[in-house]
Amino acid sequence: MIYLDSAATSFLKPATVRYAVSEAMRTMSSPGRGGYESAMRAADTLLDCRLALADLFCVRDPAHVVFTSSATHGLNIAIRSLVKPGDRVVISGYEHNAVWRPLHGLGADIRVARAPLFQPEDMVQAFRELLPGAKAAVCTQVSNVFGYILPVERIGSLCREQGVPLIVDAAQSAGTVGLDFDALGCAFAAMPGHKGLLGPQGTGVLLCRDEAAAPLFYGGTGSQSQEAFMPEFLPDRLEPGTHNVPGVAGLLAGVKWLQQRSCPAILAHERELLGEFCKRLAGADNVRLFRAEDPQTQAGVVSVQVDGMDCEEAAAKLAERGIAVRAGLHCAPLAHETAGTLSSGTVRFSFSPFNTRREALTAAEALLALA
Ligand code: PMP
Repeated sequence: MIYLDSAATSFLKPATVRYAVSEAMRTMSSPGRGGYESAMRAADTLLDCRLALADLFCVRDPAHVVFTSSATHGLNIAIRSLVKPGDRVVISGYEHNAVWRPLHGLGADIRVARAPLFQPEDMVQAFRELLPGAKAAVCTQVSNVFGYILPVERIGSLCREQGVPLIVDAAQSAGTVGLDFDALGCAFAAMPGHKGLLGPQGTGVLLCRDEAAAPLFYGGTGSQSQEAFMPEFLPDRLEPGTHNVPGVAGLLAGVKWLQQRSCPAILAHERELLGEFCKRLAGADNVRLFRAEDPQTQAGVVSVQVDGMDCEEAAAKLAERGIAVRAGLHCAPLAHETAGTLSSGTVRFSFSPFNTRREALTAAEALLALA
């Protein structure tokens, strides 16, 4: 199988991740619940992972790196911390349902900053117009449908000027496109551990500024157990219950692997594959590629449509040829609405550090054969 669905989850992982997960199951118990060896080993692993993530995302205090079960979990904490029913919230027109649905569920007054694909200047302008009076803003750093890299740094400075806390959805960017959490000054950044950070499913990370973060779940933390309240300090305030220790051990191995290769090198590799893929398809009149004119505004994800062919059918035919891609709305109807692809959806090809040039070209040939 040629796996080109890493935007769903990075199924292709370093061997060290699998090893770390199984070693953790063999040697680690629950952190913070005892001073014996297996508990201490688990506590050390959690701390090492927090330190590695704090280093990767420039978070001054590793206690502000919170483990979650997914990006969705982290986004729900962030949104519930900042938004009350009826509050005005500005979001980009490329948000995932992990942002849109929690805001709807809360009854927020959602204002969508819409701007065409790969036009960062227009997106900054759309945020500038909508931010006055907003209680919070949410922006994805990279669209999971189109690979579009949104101008979060510029949106971050607009938010700072207006005193509006910003939540960054780094689900599609973590591990490739850099994020300097302290410099950006956002309130939260949420990400999965199981995509670009190369950890196992069931892992996620929430970077948070202290004041804003409110618990979503309540329970035991192994600290201040005599109190009825959640501990004030992070990460305990947001991490009740037993940790996913094998997951975090795998995540740590994934992050170490990334740090050895470097995120810019991985982004360059994925962009190169995307470039080869698109070049091979460039002459085909009946294939529509959602490709940025300026390659700096696109990460290693591209959406495609084949004239006269339903996108689910195209993906099914590609699967028959051993090529794994995703079709449809990719849980991001807003992004499709903004790009004008809501009624049809798209077929999404997403590249990973483990894909090769040959795989990218084979996938392009298969698509050409269908078209
Ligand atoms: N936001 C974006 C942009 C995503 O691509 C995804 C995952 N597809 C999520 C949020 C949710 O991530 P998770 O499945 O880890 O909750």
